[in-house]
Amino acid sequence: MQTKFDGPRDKRGDWVPQVPLHIAPLMDWPFRPLAILKWLFGYPGYFLPWGLVYMAFPIVTWQWLTPAMTDMQNFHLGWIAYILVRNYAMVALVVGGWQLRLYWLKAQGTDFKYTTRWPAKGNSIFLFKDQTLDNLFWTVASAVPMWTAYEVATLWAYANHLLPYVSWQDHPVYCTLLFCLIPMIRDVHFYLVHRLIHWGPLYRWVHYLHHNNVNVEPISGLSMHPVEHLFYFSGALLHWVLPSHPIHLLFHLQHAAITPAQGHAGFERIVMADGVAVKTGDYFHYLHHKYFECNYGADGPVPLDKWFGSFHDGTNASTEAMNARFMARAKQKQAAGG
Ligand SMILES: [Zn+2]
Ligand SMILES: [Zn+2]
Repeated sequence: MQTKFDGPRDKRGDWVPQVPLHIAPLMDWPFRPLAILKWLFGYPGYFLPWGLVYMAFPIVTWQWLTPAMTDMQNFHLGWIAYILVRNYAMVALVVGGWQLRLYWLKAQGTDFKYTTRWPAKGNSIFLFKDQTLDNLFWTVASAVPMWTAYEVATLWAYANHLLPYVSWQDHPVYCTLLFCLIPMIRDVHFYLVHRLIHWGPLYRWVHYLHHNNVNVEPISGLSMHPVEHLFYFSGALLHWVLPSHPIHLLFHLQHAAITPAQGHAGFERIVMADGVAVKTGDYFHYLHHKYFECNYGADGPVPLDKWFGSFHDGTNASTEAMNARFMARAKQKQAAGG
């Protein structure tokens, strides 16, 4: 088993992973059923290992860590505070876990790390001149309260029978399918919101904050301007119109809240005990932080970046194509201005 990464790095010391990156084959044409089955049920795949891990959180929280529906019919501080604390605990466990192991304990040094640099200190673009403290601030002061606000409002609406509710017992197939589709729904929502906030005025007002993290760390994942959080967690509103069970809502919001830590981990693999290195990395999104104008969505089954021409597969050819797009756009703007 490989524990020490000694693969290729470029002249800046950044690790060059195996490229080109591949997009999930679900929408490929011609249709490739075997590739799809392998992607769905293989390792690593849609479910294994991380998909199932993230699915466990809403199941556990719905079973044991969510107040009774009858308690949530009125806005009372008790149950709202309970959900807020439970959500802080979840972030502490998951985001804190990634951060602690990889960045605070530096448990595997820079093995499998995309860059040899560590988060910035003494840089005045960050609050407290410290990248990690800045990210911690936006996560604690804005991300978790916004997530909780969407959750509390929607659970209250379920408790008061204001939303289209589906019973898991009566419609197990629909409920299971919808549950499994939620990460894909999130990818599409994320792409749309993300394109919107890359529009100049919104970028300069809101999204610049997330992009202060050129060199990402797990806690960068939820580090956003409150307006971005408002957009980012708004996928929960889907359950105000689409027949769902509250567990779908929990999964939707928790997926948004706890998966970005992995997506911003900055490491391709996490070294486990006894030489086992599990793939964790999201080089696709790392390239978005590195180059800004590519890979707005995810490398999941709905390849929106591929369809709209912004997919960067990690190769030099992709960088050249991206630069050519910029040049063409700049020329267009210049021509329009002149
Ligand atoms: Zn990001
Ligand atoms: Zn962005």
